[in-house]
Amino acid sequence: MTLPMSKDKTSSFDVAIVGGGIVGCATAWQLATRGIRVAVFERGKIASEQSSRAWGFIRQQGRHEAEVPLAAEANQMWIELTERYGRESTQFTPTGIMVPAETVDDEERVISGHDIAAKFKLDTRILKRDEIHDLVPELAGSWRSALYTPGDAHGDPGLSTRTIAAAARAAGAEIFEDTPVYEVEMSAGKVAGVHAASGYHQVTTVLLASGIGTPSLAGRLGLSLPIQITKSSVGMTMPAAPFTKVAMWGPHVAYRPRPDGSFTLGNGYRGMGMDYEITVDSFRSLRHFLPAYRRNWKLLKLTLGRDFFYQLRAKTSRKVAAHPFPEPIPNERKVNNNLKRFRELFPHLGDVPLSTMWAGRIDLTPDAIPIIDQPDPARRLFIAAGFSGHGFALGPSIGLQVAQWIADGKTSLDLKPFRLARFEQGEAQRAQQAL
Ligand SMILES: Cc1cc2nc3c(=O)[nH]c(=O)nc-3n(C[C@H](O)[C@H](O)[C@H](O)COP(=O)(O)OP(=O)(O)OC[C@H]3O[C@@H](n4cnc5c(N)ncnc54)[C@H](O)[C@@H]3O)c2cc1C
Repeated sequence: MTLPMSKDKTSSFDVAIVGGGIVGCATAWQLATRGIRVAVFERGKIASEQSSRAWGFIRQQGRHEAEVPLAAEANQMWIELTERYGRESTQFTPTGIMVPAETVDDEERVISGHDIAAKFKLDTRILKRDEIHDLVPELAGSWRSALYTPGDAHGDPGLSTRTIAAAARAAGAEIFEDTPVYEVEMSAGKVAGVHAASGYHQVTTVLLASGIGTPSLAGRLGLSLPIQITKSSVGMTMPAAPFTKVAMWGPHVAYRPRPDGSFTLGNGYRGMGMDYEITVDSFRSLRHFLPAYRRNWKLLKLTLGRDFFYQLRAKTSRKVAAHPFPEPIPNERKVNNNLKRFRELFPHLGDVPLSTMWAGRIDLTPDAIPIIDQPDPARRLFIAAGFSGHGFALGPSIGLQVAQWIADGKTSLDLKPFRLARFEQGEAQRAQQAL
């Protein structure tokens, strides 16, 4: 056990986790299970940011190679979590996610996804036209092939994160909601405590699992994280008679069937659909993002929005920085376009209407894989952020790995590709399928 314990048993914790999303909660659960005194500080409610706004895809296929072992471990943990707490606790549905190809260009995605999957011995297959029809008979359209991993799944992000938080609490973790952390205090080159809305808490280790809030907290400690905030918009249909459990990421729209017969709708893989608002941090990390910007230039919609002015205020006030950003406004045009494309896929649903829409801010890194690191081991400061729009699925495994690192000083899976220094050392990974 390499974790230094804090001496004061009543007013202090061994580990403070800033952020009550799936990453923070999963790590807290693992640490508490080992008897480590851990507290989660969440500025809103549990899962109030990305971890409740996600589509809910839990996939191993179509990932950057560095993430596949984590995704495979997480997949197994999702099964165990659901067996332990019941299907209603996660809505985990292991019926696969299909990525169909309409054109020769689309098929490159299918083939490269299959190559990566084969390297890691996933049960991924390339489906032929007839097999696509057999899997989802109601699906209209002319498809050449599809990538499909039967063991991939989907589930409810907010529900699952709250289940994990409840498990962490039951194992002894303290969870403070509506409690922003303003600053991490250092003393003699080491983490000493956190200044939160609840007061000062003495700790010996801090994990920043704060999603889009991570760069500003890390910045106050002199760490520059190349994380750009993007926005993605989601729609949900009214319920219809349930007819499929298979989720799909198509060229024009993505969908997840929900147990009540409604569908969560997101953007297709051709347009990607993220909105990039220019923020103050956009300029700071511009050089890291330029290659990604150049590659995706036609897809980017750069706007100078509310977030720019909000971040400007946050730069001069640590309190503004620590409080939640204003609610992001969904891009109605994109959501309606996704609905139109979804109706085209399933004509038997007729003009199924939307019941609601929302948007979520995403913490994107230049190579679209996360930063999981302890930049300076002497400090006992850990970072797990920048999950770039696909961290919900990985959550349970990230929690396990980061808890191992904090408690044992080593991890069972290789986290080197996720170190922060990769950007400065020119070793940033080439963004693969996920972006
Ligand atoms: C529209 C959308 C669709 C997505 N779809 C998928 C998907 O299908 N599959 C998938 O795997 N992933 C998906 N994702 C990505 C996924 O949601 C995230 O990668 C994942 O939830 C990240 O979890 P987290 O715990 O790191 O971050 P978050 O859930 O954002 O949690 C961080 C928490 O830190 C808190 N915080 C920040 N600063 C402070 C502070 N100073 N003090 C206290 N608390 C603070 C925030 O309030 C927040 O709750 C999607 C994301 C979006 C937005």
